[in-house]
Amino acid sequence: MSDFLYSDIKYLKGVGEARANTLSKEIGVANFRDLLYYFPYRHDDRSRFYRIEEIHGEEFPAIQIKGKFLRFTIEGEGVRKRLVGIFTDGRKFIETVWFSQIKYFSGLYKPGEEYVIFGKPALYRNVYSIAHPEVEKFNPEKPPTGFRGVYSLPDTLRKKGFSVITLRKYIEEVVNKAGFNNISETLPEELIQYYHLMPLKEALLNMHFPESPDKLRRAIERFKFEELYYIELNILRFSMERGGRIQGYAFPIIGNTFNGFYSNGMPFSLTGAQKRVLREIRRDMKDGRQMNRLLQGDVGSGKTMVAFLTALMAIDNGFQAAIMAPTEILAQQHFETINEWALKAGVKVALLTGSTRQSVRRVLHEELQSGVIDILIGTHALLEDEVKFKRLGVVIIDEQHRFGVAQRARMWKKSEIAPHVLVMTATPIPRTLAMTVYGDLDVSVIDELPPGRTPVNTRVAYDNSRFEVDNLIFSQLRQGRQVYIVYPLIQENEKLELKSLEEGYQRACDTFVGFKVCYVHGKMKPEEKEYQMNLFVSGEAQILVATTVIEVGVNVPNATLMVIENAERFGLSQLHQLRGRVGRGAERSYCVLMGKQTSGADTKKRLAIMAETTDGFLISEADMKMRGPGDMEGTLQSGMPFSLRVANLAKDGQILSVAREAALRALAGTKALLSPLASVSPNTKIENPITLTDSEIKMTGLELSLRFAKTIDWSLIS
Ligand code: ADP
Ligand code: MG
Repeated sequence: MSDFLYSDIKYLKGVGEARANTLSKEIGVANFRDLLYYFPYRHDDRSRFYRIEEIHGEEFPAIQIKGKFLRFTIEGEGVRKRLVGIFTDGRKFIETVWFSQIKYFSGLYKPGEEYVIFGKPALYRNVYSIAHPEVEKFNPEKPPTGFRGVYSLPDTLRKKGFSVITLRKYIEEVVNKAGFNNISETLPEELIQYYHLMPLKEALLNMHFPESPDKLRRAIERFKFEELYYIELNILRFSMERGGRIQGYAFPIIGNTFNGFYSNGMPFSLTGAQKRVLREIRRDMKDGRQMNRLLQGDVGSGKTMVAFLTALMAIDNGFQAAIMAPTEILAQQHFETINEWALKAGVKVALLTGSTRQSVRRVLHEELQSGVIDILIGTHALLEDEVKFKRLGVVIIDEQHRFGVAQRARMWKKSEIAPHVLVMTATPIPRTLAMTVYGDLDVSVIDELPPGRTPVNTRVAYDNSRFEVDNLIFSQLRQGRQVYIVYPLIQENEKLELKSLEEGYQRACDTFVGFKVCYVHGKMKPEEKEYQMNLFVSGEAQILVATTVIEVGVNVPNATLMVIENAERFGLSQLHQLRGRVGRGAERSYCVLMGKQTSGADTKKRLAIMAETTDGFLISEADMKMRGPGDMEGTLQSGMPFSLRVANLAKDGQILSVAREAALRALAGTKALLSPLASVSPNTKIENPITLTDSEIKMTGLELSLRFAKTIDWSLIS
């Protein structure tokens, strides 16, 4: 470790105590190393000056122009107030606009002097303008050239007088110091040679001041590789450790309960995918290692039956099963479905939710402890301390992202050794993500729908076809069907959200006279929500106006139409989940995505994808590519276990595979001398054995990787 890198940033020329405090507080830059790893989020082409007349079309990249400001004027009132500067390159004019800090900018640049402005021209009312351009005095001795990094700066930093230019200057200071030449490599030399990676020093330089586009690419690749390599190394190392140690119950028998139901009680025959998944589950549970499996299956793919058959395997071996759902309605629905099957299988099922009466509870607790109850279905209520099983063998969690890590961990206390865990989700997790995030969780996929489903007929509509949409709603209602009307959750503005929902409710009441309308939203009291939901589930109400609270799992087969308002505000995966609420019965179903005529091309493309396909995996891949993994709802709302600084899981699948392979080899090298890279001896902590605490041993793979990956930090490796 070099002291140089850890020198306090305050010693850098031009920084000092006060600015150092600001840097550390606002962007976490406390020393030279932090600064060097504060990578640009973009690199701009400063290889030449553009002429204003060269700008054309609606989309033009960021460019630099040399010229003079003619004058500045303040235009507009209130929130529309802005500072407009007219800039000329001597032949044509372009507007520069500032929407904030107007006072600050209005005196900053002197008309008549030569400047270089840089930014992305946008066409507004037939005039090109650049909003908040980067502005520098033109210096003929040192004209801006080549590629340069652009850094994200929070407003708080800008207000204190920092700019991208200041930051760039600081970084220049650091790399020009003698100490920079002596910083040591953070990847094993063997890896650098084997994979032809750019060495650290060169890569750092090129991240900030690229010598060529090609070198920049290689620098970025190196850091992506490094980031993914260490993440994989840690996850894999952890799962190896865990795999060898976590003991589970052995369920060697497939017995009479399972077989009897399978041959005589099943209302349908399993799809090939359901069978395959069950074989995987069976293999996991039979030999005394704890199962930790994630089951992905699109909405309607038949996960409930898989859950039930899994429970039967436990029961045949003398154990009980727990099935947890995120809401009361879902738990209730699961109970009704499963109870019907259970009667045929001759096993006893019970339901426990927050609203289960005390008198019922008392009996239930007893029957659970004496082993009379075979399967307990419920909500969070299952986690309460007084809920004690006789022998809990498997926990099945439906729709995992609604359960927090801490809540899942509480299930462990209910069993002597960790029960098997099956987590079921309808959120399709792209493979690159599953591989990394759930590095040590086994993944099963139901990639086949039961036969005879007709895909939901989906189309995009705009406000000008409101009349047709209303007519479609009417026609469904008249046929005795039910309809969902969904509004987006506008997080920044709860009041607005409720307002649009209330207006929508009012409008539905006024328009669809003679039909009953109910409504739910996230801010309702649970009892009120249950009441309104039940109006719809029971068929008493024909229209449900709702926010996304209905997203997960509700089953009303008679609902055949879903209208999604402001569809552009939803992520694709979320739209897919919502759409899964219809098309659950025999009738033809419809989904209408209400878009904005004025939306950009990207948004229209996203909505078009929804209309084109009903394949959840395709949709989620597309979503991830367009929005980036950090933005994905559902899957990751519960949090990516680590944040990636350079790598992007949506785009860097290939680098990830290589990094994973390298990590596997390195690990093999530490265990047995197997691979060509067996001699790798990274001067890191890799070879330290990990010891798991008792509580860690009882955590799921997911939780383990969460906990472990969180500790990954660049500081681990230097
Ligand atoms: P999800 O995976 O979304 O939880 P469900 O388990 O609710 O899906 O199943 C959706 C519907 O499909 C249910 O009505 C269920 O009974 C039915 N189903 C499940 N598996 C099959 C199958 N193999 N053949 C026919 N219908 C099936
Ligand atoms: Mg389900």
